[in-house]
Amino acid sequence: MKTLICKRPGEFGYEERAIPIPGPGELLLRMKMLGICGTDYHAFDGTQPFFEYPRILGHEISAEVAEAPEGSRFKVGDLVTVSPYFSCGKCIACRRGKTNCCTDINVFGVHSDGAMQEYISVPSSAVVPGNGLSAEELALIEPLAIAAHGVGLAQITKNDNVLILGAGPIGLGVISMAGTKGAKIIVSDVNENRLGFCKDKLGVAHLINPLKTDALAEIGKITGGDMATVIIDCTGNLEAINSAFRLLAHGGKFILIGLQKGIIEILHPEFHKRETMLMSSRNALPEDFDEVISSIKEGLIKPLELISHRVPFAGVKESFAGLSHTDQSLIKALVIFG
Ligand SMILES: [Zn+2]
Ligand SMILES: [Zn+2]
Repeated sequence: MKTLICKRPGEFGYEERAIPIPGPGELLLRMKMLGICGTDYHAFDGTQPFFEYPRILGHEISAEVAEAPEGSRFKVGDLVTVSPYFSCGKCIACRRGKTNCCTDINVFGVHSDGAMQEYISVPSSAVVPGNGLSAEELALIEPLAIAAHGVGLAQITKNDNVLILGAGPIGLGVISMAGTKGAKIIVSDVNENRLGFCKDKLGVAHLINPLKTDALAEIGKITGGDMATVIIDCTGNLEAINSAFRLLAHGGKFILIGLQKGIIEILHPEFHKRETMLMSSRNALPEDFDEVISSIKEGLIKPLELISHRVPFAGVKESFAGLSHTDQSLIKALVIFG
């Protein structure tokens, strides 16, 4: 089978390898489609911290079951996705059901070789049934599950004013998932293309470009002076995070999905007087995958709008660098396997 290996930053190479032989408790899958995300671009650029090379990238999986062992809950040809966060099952987080933040987490395609290959073998327990969704929809479940996890932590209701910082792929997922709760959605981004997408494709009414308007005054106006009862950061930008605390309502929640490397600065009295709840949101849980799949089935979210590029697997080596660096129209690229 054909594999694509990221040999070192900036360098991909195709290699022929044997089809993997599933170990105990594993399932052999044939790749159909693969979503490419920020982590993959950062790994290729050499800017992903603690990343080791050579590595096969890819963790946003749409596949079909290639071999179903006796007694399996799957049959050959079933369309599936994969929850790519393999947890230890023993640590303090796992014992308390928070497998998404396992102390010894192994993310497929990040900490171990991933899905830029024609066949993969993964723990059967990580395989999520496709439930009638299309192969394209299934390639979008993982980033949407990350969004759903952050939205779940915020316990959003229809009475919330939700400010979403950053309208990249995760931010767009958060907009969709928060929208299913009926909340008032406000989106802030410095990129006018992205704001336009939110308005045209997702029907977001309240858009802010903090480079052009005073966010504090604007959000005050939109919320009738209440401010944002929930802020979800999807930028991973230190300045965006630091300057957003003042936009939070008293009694509000601030959820960090985006990740950056610096130190967050909070003026204690401002934080304190709001009784601010600050949480990070890491990866996703199986129930987040289930929620996304049922939201798509019920027509509550329309994820195919997010796909801006489709690249055949054989063309990834050639087009990868151009996708992330030069293509302004990029939202979500899918790799299509033959
Ligand atoms: Zn991803
Ligand atoms: Zn664990």
